[in-house]
Amino acid sequence: MSGSAAIRLSVTGRVQGVGFRPAVYRLAAELGLSGGVRNTGRAVVIEIQGPASALEEFRRRLPGVVPGLAHVESVETEPLAQALPAGFRILESERTESDGRARIPADLATCPDCLRELLDPADRRHRYPFINCTRCGPRYTIIESLPYDRARTSMRAFPLCADCRAEYQDPADRRFHAEPVACAACGPRLSLCDARGNPLPGDPLAGSIERLRQGRILALKGLGGFHLAVDASREEAVRELRRRKRRGRKPLALMVADLVAVRRLARLSAEEAALLESPARPIVLLDTQAASPVAGAAAPGLSRLGVMLPYTPLHHLLCREFPALVMTSGNRSEEPIARENDEALERLADLADAFLLHDREIRVSCDDSVAYLRDREPALVRRSRGFAPEPLPLPGAPDGLLAVGAQMKNTFCLVRGEQAYLSQHIGDLDNPVTLEHFRRSLEQLSRLTGIRPQYVCCDRHPDYGSTNLARELGLPLMAVQHHHAHLAAALADAGVEGSAIGLCLDGTGLGDDGTIWGGEVLVGSAAEYRRAARLLPFVLPGGDAAVREPWRTSVGLLLAAGGEELARSARALCGDDRLFSGVVAAARRGVNAPVCSSLGRLFDGVSALLGICPRADYDGQAAAELEAAAGELAGTPFDAPLRREGALLEIDWRPMLRQLLEQRDRGAPIGLLSARFHRTVAEGFIACCREIRRQGGPERVAFSGGCFMNRRLDEALETGLRREGFSVIVHRRVPANDGGLCLGQAAVAAARKEVFSCASRSR
Ligand code: ZN
Ligand code: ZN
Ligand code: FE
Repeated sequence: MSGSAAIRLSVTGRVQGVGFRPAVYRLAAELGLSGGVRNTGRAVVIEIQGPASALEEFRRRLPGVVPGLAHVESVETEPLAQALPAGFRILESERTESDGRARIPADLATCPDCLRELLDPADRRHRYPFINCTRCGPRYTIIESLPYDRARTSMRAFPLCADCRAEYQDPADRRFHAEPVACAACGPRLSLCDARGNPLPGDPLAGSIERLRQGRILALKGLGGFHLAVDASREEAVRELRRRKRRGRKPLALMVADLVAVRRLARLSAEEAALLESPARPIVLLDTQAASPVAGAAAPGLSRLGVMLPYTPLHHLLCREFPALVMTSGNRSEEPIARENDEALERLADLADAFLLHDREIRVSCDDSVAYLRDREPALVRRSRGFAPEPLPLPGAPDGLLAVGAQMKNTFCLVRGEQAYLSQHIGDLDNPVTLEHFRRSLEQLSRLTGIRPQYVCCDRHPDYGSTNLARELGLPLMAVQHHHAHLAAALADAGVEGSAIGLCLDGTGLGDDGTIWGGEVLVGSAAEYRRAARLLPFVLPGGDAAVREPWRTSVGLLLAAGGEELARSARALCGDDRLFSGVVAAARRGVNAPVCSSLGRLFDGVSALLGICPRADYDGQAAAELEAAAGELAGTPFDAPLRREGALLEIDWRPMLRQLLEQRDRGAPIGLLSARFHRTVAEGFIACCREIRRQGGPERVAFSGGCFMNRRLDEALETGLRREGFSVIVHRRVPANDGGLCLGQAAVAAARKEVFSCASRSR
């Protein structure tokens, strides 16, 4: 053919598992080009031949035909010498060692087209619970290795039937090269069994619905693991689930069929509706409708409720039958989500009455993500299913860097090509099952990304499970101070370089002076920091026990504010006189009473003193219920003056505490006292920022730490700081809590690479 040329295009970005190759095929076919397209571990490679003008048009139009979920990062073009065979084909994948540039696609919620077919009696996949296409379905959770192809997923156990194969091979079909494509004739199937694993007769789905209607607890295998489900409108069923899961008042997520059902439970903005319906389908925290008893049972004592929409066909079929289902991770408290049928039957046997199983294996377990609208834009509380393992940019980071995160809400990340691949949510690393989950997930992510760890960074706390795992690797190691990592995480999340004031407000992190930090104002960048201000320190009677028993913390606060005399006023909160006297005496002598400057603990102690939460069932409960108590009330601040303690500023909260107790004893409404307390804390930290700036510090303030899950505090700080002319840097893409900490550790390691080279030499 005269004027014919051949070129090769290498396309990187999120281009595998999103229907990219079929789109390329259709464009090439339309333009009459010959050649082919294939996935490699590195990229999607397109080889085309035809008239120069057609090649040019192909290159021009390629970005426009990219499916909605794909994202092209780079296109490299090179000429080809040899001629290509006639016609255009989607070629066998080339097996190459992945170099981390090929994206591992995240799981995608059922698309509108598949949902329509699912509910269409005339469709051949009517009510087939594993329907999917190139635009939706399982991805990360079924992948064994790259490139992304059916043969390297758990779908390889299901040979395609003639009908599915025809769709898979038809370029005009929505399922053209949809790797997990399946139907009732050839694909995965449901089964239902009792708590001992004995199969139950009848249709599994109908049997499950019937049992849920009877108020039974169903363990249900989903996309990234098992859920425990009950009919949320049956109060006794919800109570029984809480009892068996030993989950006192901790909020339970709800799954409902559609936005109409969501509005019965919660107030909903247009942005929240969009977040609920986004392909990642996170649990979204919404303001509860006051009139909803279902919401009250799911999230007692709180003003916000976690709700999600169905994200698999199976969920759609179940949810249509109920106003709302409680859908909580299938695990014992504190353990990771159960993944395989046998494992679930063993671990969940005394939690569930029946098991709805299927035979598509989950390769990577993945909990639900949790998000909310912060200032009308999404922010994450937990980054997991639908997001993991999408990378985030991390300029300057060395290849082969592993950041292992902290202890609670753990995630880790692996770095290559200045991209940080964040793991799914791993959990709290204080039990062997979760530690094993960490090891397994690290091995998997390392295999899928092709990143072998060469450097490790961890928290400075010597006893964190993650720190121990990091040490076991025997690689050059950097320990990063917890709150420095928070500051660096906020900067990296927002893509900001240079210095900022860091408001690092959380529950616990080991400080440089050996005390527990958590109400810290740092000044610095990813490379270095200094501690500029803190909360006035106090003791935590009983150490870790104070986290579950905030009344202990109130004793610590009262000892600091007025001595033993005042501390005795907390006796009623404890309810056990001998225990109480012992705790006060030990705390006064400093026995088993570590010193802290933690804002999270200050919230706990005040929550206890106001009688809201003297004993907590879950992490963060005391603070969350204290925030909820304030409702819509506004309050003027109490007195909390700044003092100077050497080079350090200190927020002296003791006058506030005395005023708060006085007003409490005079019968002031608890909600109002909570509102005034929040305002005081915000004003205290704003005053620190003002003073730091006056002394030549930065004009911008980065927010990080679990306390920013408190919306009232977050808003008061942001509003106040902006009013004073500060710019504010906040978390969006990773959580402000310790779930985002690994990104900060990696950013610190990237900024201080020379520390590793020293470590390498000394080995
Ligand atoms: Zn679909
Ligand atoms: Zn089939
Ligand atoms: Fe933290």
